[in-house]
Amino acid sequence: MPAPVPQSTAAPDLAGNIRIVLVGTQHPGNIGAAARAMKTMGLSRLVLVAPEKPLDDDAQRRSAGAEDLLQSAPVHATLAEAVADCRLVLGCTARSRRVQLEQLEPDAAAGRLLQFAAADTVALVFGRERTGLTNEELQLCHASVHIPSDPAFSSLNLAAAVQVLAYELRLALLAAAPADAAIPRSDDLGATHEQVEGFFSQLAETLDAIDFHKGRSPDSAMRKLRRLFLRTDLTVNEVRLLRGVLADAQRMARLAGEGEGGRLSP
Ligand code: SAH
Repeated sequence: MPAPVPQSTAAPDLAGNIRIVLVGTQHPGNIGAAARAMKTMGLSRLVLVAPEKPLDDDAQRRSAGAEDLLQSAPVHATLAEAVADCRLVLGCTARSRRVQLEQLEPDAAAGRLLQFAAADTVALVFGRERTGLTNEELQLCHASVHIPSDPAFSSLNLAAAVQVLAYELRLALLAAAPADAAIPRSDDLGATHEQVEGFFSQLAETLDAIDFHKGRSPDSAMRKLRRLFLRTDLTVNEVRLLRGVLADAQRMARLAGEGEGGRLSP
């Protein structure tokens, strides 16, 4: 078992528990392309079961920089051996089989895998290019996964199928643990009621200072302004900016009212 490769995903522990198992792959190039599909989505645990040919230049080339996944991929003789320690095993099939197996769509499969990956190793299994998974191999799975392709042309390229499922897993991983970048800084948080009211008080004072109301009651204008600003969901930063503008307006009004000092210099 290789040590989990450090992840760049939002939830490295979860991704590290997800094994992508390729069974009996015929074209090494497809293994390379599958590794690339996985790595773009933050997955690293590739496992091979009895590939028809050893990894070659084509596999390297089509991995496009995901050679580390190829190098660390264990090779097993049978699927049973590859998933022996897994709590949940899902098998991807291009067509409905006669085996009595629950069939999941990709997003539901990703959700189920993540649920189990919180505590245990899970496996998502892909079959041979020509013949897919055997019925015996599907019997080892807890459920099957089908990408709802056109029934008249239902079979995706192996690496394309891996990409679709890896993408669904990525979405589920991101939803489970939002990236640090998505956590707002405290200044970007919504302003509190008290902060917004402080701004409204200063706005009212400023409108008086610049004689905005010209003898009219300030109530109507203030009501409209309150409605406008409350609709915008002000952040702490925005309240600070607006209060800075008001402070300058108040300063200028003071200068203007100070006779001599009222000569506004540019
Ligand atoms: N002719 C094979 C298809 C093999 S495609 C068959 O009929 O089973 C290689 C592998 O890609 C499949 O074993 C499966 O794991 C995956 N795959 C391809 N198309 C898929 C689809 N529509 N849904 C789910 N998995 C698919």
